Amino acid sequence: MRWEGGRRSGVEDRRGMGGPGMIGGGGIVVVLIALAGYYFFGIDPQAVMSGLESVQGGQQQEASVGNPQDEAGAFVDVIHTSANDTWAEMFQAQGKRYEPSKVVLYDNATGTGCGTGQAAMGPFYCPADNRVYLDLNFWSTLDQQLGAKGDYARAYVIAHEVGHHVQNQLGISDYVEQQSRQVSKSAANALSVKLELQADCYAGVWANRSNTKMNWLEAGDIEEAIGAASAVGDDTLQQASQGRVVPDSFTHGSSADRIKWFRTGFARGNPQDCDTFGV
Ligand SMILES: [Zn+2]
Repeated sequence: MRWEGGRRSGVEDRRGMGGPGMIGGGGIVVVLIALAGYYFFGIDPQAVMSGLESVQGGQQQEASVGNPQDEAGAFVDVIHTSANDTWAEMFQAQGKRYEPSKVVLYDNATGTGCGTGQAAMGPFYCPADNRVYLDLNFWSTLDQQLGAKGDYARAYVIAHEVGHHVQNQLGISDYVEQQSRQVSKSAANALSVKLELQADCYAGVWANRSNTKMNWLEAGDIEEAIGAASAVGDDTLQQASQGRVVPDSFTHGSSADRIKWFRTGFARGNPQDCDTFGV
């Protein structure tokens, strides 16, 4: 991917600032232990958030927004900015207002509007503060443990998280959360899968539209994104962590479904084709 030179809008860089324990106050309760068993990207951000929102005392670390000088930070800045620019254009074309997401780089742990963000959770989006949280050590997990290599595998992950922000802006996440409260656990999981697959499809829409504008895709890039979508499928993650697949507890979708929806978004470049709920 030829991403250098892409527009940058800045990231909130908390790297090297230490975890939330260092800022005192003790208002943060960590309830993530209950979620052990899901690793990395396999944690459903919505579920985490709804569980955490009530326990967090609003304590957040702040860092100024700037343009990181290092390559890894610059990459996140360019991709995140491109994703927001792409969605802003689509919203505008429909006469809708789009509030861009923000992105936070951190290491180990950090305070968020949704509770303490832990690196072990993998990248996630917090709807309460409209931020995407990334610990860049996840990139080596993605590459070495999950076997998804390349810069476009990373770009897909960022675009997927911005996809959750778009769902938040459109009220889709709220709708799903409401519905989920009224149904059985397995039905709620099914809804969560649809939300995740839609975020994959949205990542594909971004891949299509940003390339039309920037012409930055290189041979093998789309395969890298597909490799990442496959690597973070629940069946693959479950098999790696438990040695078996338990479809009822899927919250992100199988590898095949994730690939299918990313491809659909990429082929058509139209979010109308991302109705994972209707099909
Ligand atoms: Zn997700």
